[in-house]
Amino acid sequence: MPETAHKPAEKTPTEVQKPISLGSQLKLNCSEIYRNFTYKIPALALLSAILWVPHYYASEITSFMRMESWPMSSGFAQATAIHVVFLLAYVIVNGLYFVAYNLNHPFFEQYKCTNRPWPWQVSQKRWIKLRNRLIKFFAINVGLMVPLYMPIIGYLYPLSMKTGPTEMPGFATHLFHIFVMMACEDFFFYWIHRAAHTKFLYKHVHYVHHEYIQNVSICATYAHPLEFVFADAFATLSGMYVCGSYCHIVTAMVFVMLRIIETSEAHSGYEFPWSITNMLPFSVTSDYHDHHHHTNKGNFSTFFLFWDSICSTNNIYFKYLAKMRSGVKSSTVKTE
Ligand SMILES: [Zn+2]
Ligand SMILES: [Zn+2]
Repeated sequence: MPETAHKPAEKTPTEVQKPISLGSQLKLNCSEIYRNFTYKIPALALLSAILWVPHYYASEITSFMRMESWPMSSGFAQATAIHVVFLLAYVIVNGLYFVAYNLNHPFFEQYKCTNRPWPWQVSQKRWIKLRNRLIKFFAINVGLMVPLYMPIIGYLYPLSMKTGPTEMPGFATHLFHIFVMMACEDFFFYWIHRAAHTKFLYKHVHYVHHEYIQNVSICATYAHPLEFVFADAFATLSGMYVCGSYCHIVTAMVFVMLRIIETSEAHSGYEFPWSITNMLPFSVTSDYHDHHHHTNKGNFSTFFLFWDSICSTNNIYFKYLAKMRSGVKSSTVKTE
């Protein structure tokens, strides 16, 4: 195990605080959700405009990819297209973060979630070990696990989405399907991730993902193969099954790109104000998932605050936020 591996949840000042009362907890949740919503209405309009572009060019995209003439116009071709988009988005998004990390410019560094140094600033030797381990897990997940489950989503439970250049639904339906895919992913990821924090699953599966304490964007897919299949792949694909034949593959591709951007942002260590997921109402932030990695507790969601708020698994984080906003320095995150 790498030297920077996550030791079993260290006690931190936020964790040993007394549990807050239900009333205070609701107040914290409501104020956070209200703040979130009012701030994000214009941002949501901007995001809709961004999502309109692939909708407008859907027929060109499908014609360019010659989707109607795919030799296996069934689920296998669709599943392949989804995974190719996943890989492309992963390379492009991480390429951009790679530039930001290497520039190490104050403009980017001012948006760091914490004051912790980047892993390569602590020890080059340790960083190389950890990076090699990350490459190994990525190769296993993409090179072995994806081909293993591809026949299932290709033939046994095909995605069966529309692929024709003229079959793209209206813009409102396109947005609605993206929302359904986000909601499904968020639901399944929340509960699978929460289960992964039980003693047995954490010890044997989820500990891998928590080996990085100071995250960098490429850690997003750094996970045990079982976690990669169930928490990442299954949760991401779930909404495509729910939307089924009502959905167009271009919509699914846009969702996959959003999912990669979201998870890379969440693990980037930066909280950029222009981040795509910040444009969603009731969405979580990079700092939100960063807090999960630092404290090893709560904040299980990916896209939205709902499940964490309903199940009170983000009250430690909201309490920490309230303290930070009232000017009380926390010794757990910002000053470490
Ligand atoms: Zn976790
Ligand atoms: Zn994570």
